[in-house]
Amino acid sequence: MSDLAATPLTVIKGIGAAQAEKLTRLGLENLQDLLFHLPLRYQDRTRITPIGALRPGQDAVLEGSVTGADVLMGRRRSLLVRLHDGTGSVSLRFYHFSNAQKTALSRGATVRCYGEVRPGASGLEIYHPEYRVLEGDEPLPVAQTLTPIYPATEGVSQARLRQLSDAALARLSADSLPDWLPAALRHDYQLGPLDQAIRYLHQPPPDANLEQLANGEHWSQQRLAFEEMLAHQLSMQRLREQQRAQQAPSLPPSIQLVERYLAGLRFAPTGAQRRVAAEIAYDLAQDTPMLRLVQGDVGAGKTVVAALAAMQALEAGYQVALMAPTEILAEQHFLTFCQWLEPLGIEVAWLAGKLKGKARQAALEQISSGQARMVVGTHALFQAEVQFHSLALAIIDEQHRFGVQQRLALREKGISGRLCPHQLIMTATPIPRTLAMSAYADLDTSVLDELPPGRTPVNTLVLGDNRRAEVIERVRSGCLEGRQAYWVCTLIEESEELTCQAAQGTYEDLQLALGELQVGLIHGRMKAAEKAAVMDAFKRGELHLLVATTVIEVGVDVPNASLMIIENPERLGLAQLHQLRGRVGRGSTASHCVLLYHPPLSHIGRERLAIMRETCDGFLIAEKDLELRGPGEMLGTRQTGLLQFRIADLQRDAHLLPAVRDAALQLLAEQPQAVSPLLARWLRHGQQYGQV
Ligand code: ADP
Ligand code: MG
Repeated sequence: MSDLAATPLTVIKGIGAAQAEKLTRLGLENLQDLLFHLPLRYQDRTRITPIGALRPGQDAVLEGSVTGADVLMGRRRSLLVRLHDGTGSVSLRFYHFSNAQKTALSRGATVRCYGEVRPGASGLEIYHPEYRVLEGDEPLPVAQTLTPIYPATEGVSQARLRQLSDAALARLSADSLPDWLPAALRHDYQLGPLDQAIRYLHQPPPDANLEQLANGEHWSQQRLAFEEMLAHQLSMQRLREQQRAQQAPSLPPSIQLVERYLAGLRFAPTGAQRRVAAEIAYDLAQDTPMLRLVQGDVGAGKTVVAALAAMQALEAGYQVALMAPTEILAEQHFLTFCQWLEPLGIEVAWLAGKLKGKARQAALEQISSGQARMVVGTHALFQAEVQFHSLALAIIDEQHRFGVQQRLALREKGISGRLCPHQLIMTATPIPRTLAMSAYADLDTSVLDELPPGRTPVNTLVLGDNRRAEVIERVRSGCLEGRQAYWVCTLIEESEELTCQAAQGTYEDLQLALGELQVGLIHGRMKAAEKAAVMDAFKRGELHLLVATTVIEVGVDVPNASLMIIENPERLGLAQLHQLRGRVGRGSTASHCVLLYHPPLSHIGRERLAIMRETCDGFLIAEKDLELRGPGEMLGTRQTGLLQFRIADLQRDAHLLPAVRDAALQLLAEQPQAVSPLLARWLRHGQQYGQV
């Protein structure tokens, strides 16, 4: 049989070019892709449940005859069909129905249906079941295996996906789907046969343990999870090797600029800042590119570390780029670096997506001519039209907002396409070890484990929003004493527009309630210039209170702000709350953060907010967050596409990681030709980090 990885979908009967095109949206291009498009869950349609044995909440196949069918008028018109099988009766309820359906489901018809049973107005009911009216006496067979439910997309139904996977399974054998793992390795880690694992997961037998499958604990799932993690690991290693093979400008340690920079600072660097700066300085002096991740909790002073690194490239006459994930943060970095570098005679350029027309042209010109040696901006810096003159160091702030892809794109911006820039990545999201081992396997790590002196930990209170009036009074008295405060409105149902409207409403309410205070508003839908003006006014102390959406989440630094109210904190992840809270506690006055939740809180909700009250330790919070939310969300991968596993789950399968790492080394040494087909199998185009 021919290799399924090389067999296009159009060999399947009924799949033409148009269907094949739709399927590429699911990443499906060949028969192997179909086999690795694994079910999300299963339904049991292998037996008919007697109606008398139904329990609420159960998904079941039923068969019975219709004893009555009525159109009820009620609040919403519905068709209610009574079904009886000798053991009991149940109602099928349809809110959308045609006349033809009504006629087919009339008294006396025999119906087979499938759906979720729930308690309704007429006893047990199934809303909109899948059904089929049986004709004649011919018995309809039940499913022979559990029914898989696949990730689908518009225009591609479950039935179509099942038909496709059946077609691929019909051609599956140990020959048509080569197992790239060497036999010795399979033996050592007790990995079962690949084709059997695949077949089992698409068509589990009727007696399969659904709970085990739902938990990903079946051997076939573990087998595939191992292979998938191995593919990611290999991809990261390949990336690292490629990186090592590149040339970078070797930058001698900066003497003059660093000295002058430090002399101008109002404070001395902490021990941790010095240590990390020294680690970076060493890397930068090498002629292979640095790829270093600096982890430091919110407020640890990563910007100073970035500046110290920048000096080394600047003193050697090269350019430095600093990229931040939001415009507000980029803007703030721009101002900070202007303040630091202009006295040293170094020009700083600014670039963001919203910069248009002449100003944009001027910035691009400053960057390509090399006139601006320091460039600060958003991801606009990745764009093809941005040409650097002599980029030697790229600094990426708050890395968790960017994917590996974007990080790699900067590499292309090096010097005359020949020298690759050094990369420094900074993040405040502490990365639990298991994640660091896989998501950041290609990076060296430094930890900034000391906060600058004089910080007072933030005192956190958890209050129900029935105490809102009290909290407003607190804001009033705090601000009248000369302090500044943030009032944060959280995301409403994933809708930015609604969230901004809500922030506007809160702003108006607070302005009314706090007539004697200057209140400002900042949210994502405002123009960049408006945002900058509001931020400036707040920084200068002209505003007492800043009503904001979570746009202020990262990087914003106003040391005099010492009070933060977060509305509906239960809507946010813990890491995000920690980031937000990190906006206060930056000065020497005691800071407070009020988590103003909307009761009632779920049990877990209460537990989560209690963690926030009890600790300011970002690492602890991140561990808890990972436990409660899973790694994808924590790293913000839904936006970036980083680390999307199909079957592996970094938390559940963390125990496999050490073995996966060993296996990766073994495979590279003994069977390097297996690497490329393994990557092609598991990682979609462009997800293969080494091939950008
Ligand atoms: P983050 O690590 O969250 O990016 P920042 O770089 O924004 O932190 O620094 C937070 C604040 O701490 C800034 O106001 C910065 O000027 C100040 N800071 C940084 N390093 C020191 C230090 N060694 N001593 C005192 N203050 C410092
Ligand atoms: Mg920062």
